[in-house]
Amino acid sequence: VMVSEVRTRVGKDWVAECRQQIAADYRARTPGSFELFKRASKVLPGGASGNLRYFAPYPLYMKSGDGCHSIDVDGTSYIDCFSCNGPLLLGHRHPAVTGAMAELADVGSLVVNPEIMIRCAEALQRVIPCAERVRFLNSGTEAVMSAIRYARAYTGKDKIVKFYGHYHGQDDQFLLGLGPSRETLGAGVPKEAVANTLTLRCNDSVGLEELLSSRDDIAAVIIDPAMHSGGLWGVDRDFLIQLRTQTQAAGIVLIFDEVITGFRMGVGGAQAYYGVTPDLTTLAKAMAAGEKLGAVVGSAEIMRVADPLADECVPRVFQSGTGNDGTMPLAAALGAIHEYERLSRSGEYEALWARVERLEQGLKEAFAGQGIGFHVNRLCSMMQMFISDRSPSYEAYADINNELLDLLYLALLNEGVMLSLPTSNHIYFSFMHDQTAFDATISAVRTVLAKYPFARAYQQQIEGN
Ligand code: PMP
Repeated sequence: VMVSEVRTRVGKDWVAECRQQIAADYRARTPGSFELFKRASKVLPGGASGNLRYFAPYPLYMKSGDGCHSIDVDGTSYIDCFSCNGPLLLGHRHPAVTGAMAELADVGSLVVNPEIMIRCAEALQRVIPCAERVRFLNSGTEAVMSAIRYARAYTGKDKIVKFYGHYHGQDDQFLLGLGPSRETLGAGVPKEAVANTLTLRCNDSVGLEELLSSRDDIAAVIIDPAMHSGGLWGVDRDFLIQLRTQTQAAGIVLIFDEVITGFRMGVGGAQAYYGVTPDLTTLAKAMAAGEKLGAVVGSAEIMRVADPLADECVPRVFQSGTGNDGTMPLAAALGAIHEYERLSRSGEYEALWARVERLEQGLKEAFAGQGIGFHVNRLCSMMQMFISDRSPSYEAYADINNELLDLLYLALLNEGVMLSLPTSNHIYFSFMHDQTAFDATISAVRTVLAKYPFARAYQQQIEGN
């Protein structure tokens, strides 16, 4: 009797109902992925190769990609707006990239000091404002680790400054302050490992001034000019200018982590977009359009610390990597950079950003039609979304309940749209996303909002039931 009384008072749990319906449809559409998940989870933790690649009830397993589509093992095609977390700015298997790799097919994957390495470095020198010198590595994580080591060697100081909400890869010393506190991300990060990392609120010009004027032990300030982990709240240009001026005055190395923004905010990255040139820049992701390649680029003077020919008075860092000059990633990067330059010349960046702006409008109308509070953060071809009755801010970001948003991403898979993964909220569009793809995306959002009880779940959530 008591249970039924409670049910009548509280009514149905509409979030649970939503999840149940969406998951049932997902299971019916993806039997091949379910079979692979069972196999994969016996050999790979979580059945995948990274925490965010798993999502409930089980992840999709993709067979291939083509343009702005990914095709799963059941043969279903998805409009892919996740772009493997950013690198696929040219979509899947772009001919500029596959062609460049094919040209080097008879060279071999690894030879010592291939000529393609020089050509690729010259291309970076041409397009990235701060790139007087280039050191290639394998990933964004390695690029950030090396840039920090260069800065420490150059200044002879140990402390580094990072901003809350900015992610800089897997190295322990950066796995803190991903939210609005100094909390470390996940287990296994020793306190000592983050002891040299100072944290500051982004866009806080008073805090920056205070910190830089009160200490003389800072080697570098590192910033992601688009602040991804905290919800894509961009960085104020004035703050970047202040950062440039004050680090320069204090002899502190300014590092732009352009692993995501590089090539995406224009061929010259965020530094060209904002007109603020850092000392060092880290690149990866879109640089090689999906192949594994990272780079530190920057001031010739600072990068002398990595130069065996430098004067004896220059402190030398040790920095090496077995796969640093792999020919396939370098070929992919050269092909991609040439294509970015071509797209830039023909106005395609602005055209893509305008399409994304129209998409945002279409999404807003779809949610408004259902009475669901919806907000978008958008910068160039990057987007993050929020289902919330309040306009979200970075400070309140950690408190936003993302349950319905995660369900929306799962529901969209049932309509052939991978807008993001249900474990992520990162949306990265490519040049291959044309108006047809965006119209289909809006239409899929309208369909899932009507098909599943999102509006009721939302109402229940904001009423606190
Ligand atoms: N810096 C930023 C800003 C990133 O977004 C990432 C990856 N998402 C990294 C560094 C690390 O790059 P990688 O995953 O290639 O190691």
